[in-house]
Amino acid sequence: MSTAQTADELETMDHLSDFSAEKIYCANCVHCKLIRSTTGNGNQYCLRVRCDAGMWKKKLGEEKIYKYFTVARRSLDSCSYYEPMGDPKEFIKELKKTLPIKDEVYTGFN
Ligand code: SF4
Repeated sequence: MSTAQTADELETMDHLSDFSAEKIYCANCVHCKLIRSTTGNGNQYCLRVRCDAGMWKKKLGEEKIYKYFTVARRSLDSCSYYEPMGDPKEFIKELKKTLPIKDEVYTGFN
């Protein structure tokens, strides 16, 4: 059985040309969840992503979450919990068209 890499070992992909058919992209996995992180006076939030299979961890074992705009860069050589949601190349291509280019603060809870 293969073991997943920890968050600190996750590699980054800045450009779609870096796409590798050999790799697993967390953004294309059912366990990669988009969450809101409250900020400011409580009615503002930023978007974050977490692995609900518990595979993203800091060195001391706490859960690690990432800024949403970086999600397309999260890739692994293998992961026992990977459950793809579709063709990874197509998915990452479409995702990169809609991802913000930096961390953004949103207001309201609609
Ligand atoms: S289960 Fe594995 S592939 Fe899926 S999001 Fe978590 S670390 Fe990434």
